[in-house]
Amino acid sequence: MNVLVTGGAGYVGSITSEALLARGHRVVVVDDLRTGHRDAVPEGAAFVLADVADAELVGYALEEHRVEAILHFAASSLVGESMAAPLDYFDNNVSGALRLWRTALRHGVRRVVVSSTAALYGTPDEVPIPETARLAPESVYGETKLQLERALQWLATTAGVGSVALRYFNAAGASPTRGEDHRPETHLIPIVLEAAAGRRPKVAVFGDDYPTPDGTAVRDYVHVEDLAAAHVRALEILEPGVARAFNLGNGQGYSVRQVIDVAREVTGRDIVAETSPRRAGDPPVLVADAAAARRDLDWTPRHPDLRDIVATAWDWHRANPEGYGA
Ligand code: UDP
Repeated sequence: MNVLVTGGAGYVGSITSEALLARGHRVVVVDDLRTGHRDAVPEGAAFVLADVADAELVGYALEEHRVEAILHFAASSLVGESMAAPLDYFDNNVSGALRLWRTALRHGVRRVVVSSTAALYGTPDEVPIPETARLAPESVYGETKLQLERALQWLATTAGVGSVALRYFNAAGASPTRGEDHRPETHLIPIVLEAAAGRRPKVAVFGDDYPTPDGTAVRDYVHVEDLAAAHVRALEILEPGVARAFNLGNGQGYSVRQVIDVAREVTGRDIVAETSPRRAGDPPVLVADAAAARRDLDWTPRHPDLRDIVATAWDWHRANPEGYGA
């Protein structure tokens, strides 16, 4: 299939582009490089430097590459930042995506797979969380992704759009050639590994008074290559006029302190951790019930073990201490 990947210079988007090419799909990446890295885009993919809201450049990419489906990763994705800059999040994640759908429909593209998030669930009533759980985001970031999913549901019934929203829990790990390089870095595992490498003095643990066994927040870490595989499957099962959503996680939660302990074990290095205040918008526990993805996407994570996830991230970090470079 000819696939347009927005955000294909980013972490999950670039590794999914790699997976699409390996499956024989053709890929054109659209990315404005506001957070992505040109060097992360796989060699076999075409590249268009553009904002997803740019109807002219995106329209050109759709026509030039005879695009049949869109994988939409391009978004702002930080819970804390979204609470500080809400309008930027609505603008980029909601308005930008709506302009992208408008361009897609104008060019006859009705197949989309989008990055969504466990942040849709807020503080869930039950854990592990099924897709049928109440959707009650506690952050602007989560709210923008909920609005994105709702727009796709209406476009299914009104315009025949077939979509799959993939609700990631915590993306982590690296492929042999691509990894996580956010500037500034805010995600737990890369921060812990920077501390292990001596590139930062310590790790701040955001909150130790959550209602969890050790008081620190619990997350379900899922390997980025397993996320990539789910996107390829989602593309292949899309049905016109149907909007679906799947959780992607391993069903196993780890606290911040447990992640730090695993990183100490994997790296053999000392890591200093210091308790800090909670971060706004962070729920105490997010763990996926991903039974639907296992069943309907035939999805089996190949790296369910946190040690393995951290080890792949550590390998990439050691091979690329400066990430994608200056
Ligand atoms: N976290 C932390 N210290 C850090 C970064 C993150 O304690 O320097 C915590 C954060 O509060 C959350 C978990 O680690 O409970 C995962 O955060 P991350 O930003 O990696 O992903 P998110 O859950 O926001 O998608």
